[in-house]
Amino acid sequence: MHRIQIIEGDITCCQTDAIVNAANTSLLGGGGVDGAIHRAAGPALLEECRSLNGCATGEAKITRGYNLPARFVIHTVGPIWRDGAHGEHAALASCYRRVFEVAIQHGIRSIAFPAISTGAYRFPPDAACRIALEETARILARHQHFEQVLFVAFNPTVFAAFQSALKAILPPPS
Ligand code: ADP
Repeated sequence: MHRIQIIEGDITCCQTDAIVNAANTSLLGGGGVDGAIHRAAGPALLEECRSLNGCATGEAKITRGYNLPARFVIHTVGPIWRDGAHGEHAALASCYRRVFEVAIQHGIRSIAFPAISTGAYRFPPDAACRIALEETARILARHQHFEQVLFVAFNPTVFAAFQSALKAILPPPS
């Protein structure tokens, strides 16, 4: 799993082929990481997003990256956490799967993810990061062409959650 890395920082600075946006269903901009990505990419990103007719929860759509170092932005919409009994886990897993499918379709080899749904959408970070790492490990086992998958934590709580999730998916030392 050396292709997976966890860093603390700002995803808009990542020089991967694509960065992932935790957007809302309108795709027309919001706060958090979505706001940061639109500010860094410039107004042309919003113009392209207007042509996409939104995005359902658990789905993903791709645009260019404009002024970002990343060539593409893959926008996905995480679930809003209610109590964990309303399909939140499945919807979040679907976000990661759909982002990777879109990435494969576009020949993307390096990609950076934020911790989808762990901000305004209030998904508990430990569970969210565990889903992120489990889905990623499954995809990487099947698709050798991904060179680098970065998980970008914006605060220490999410950083720790990503790290323990990574430990949990690694095989025990023999
Ligand atoms: P959601 O609505 O899916 O919860 P948010 O943008 O509110 O989306 O938060 C998702 C995660 O992105 C949170 O962990 C938040 O701290 C993080 N985040 C916010 N800004 C950035 C950024 N510039 N780079 C990376 N992660 C960010």
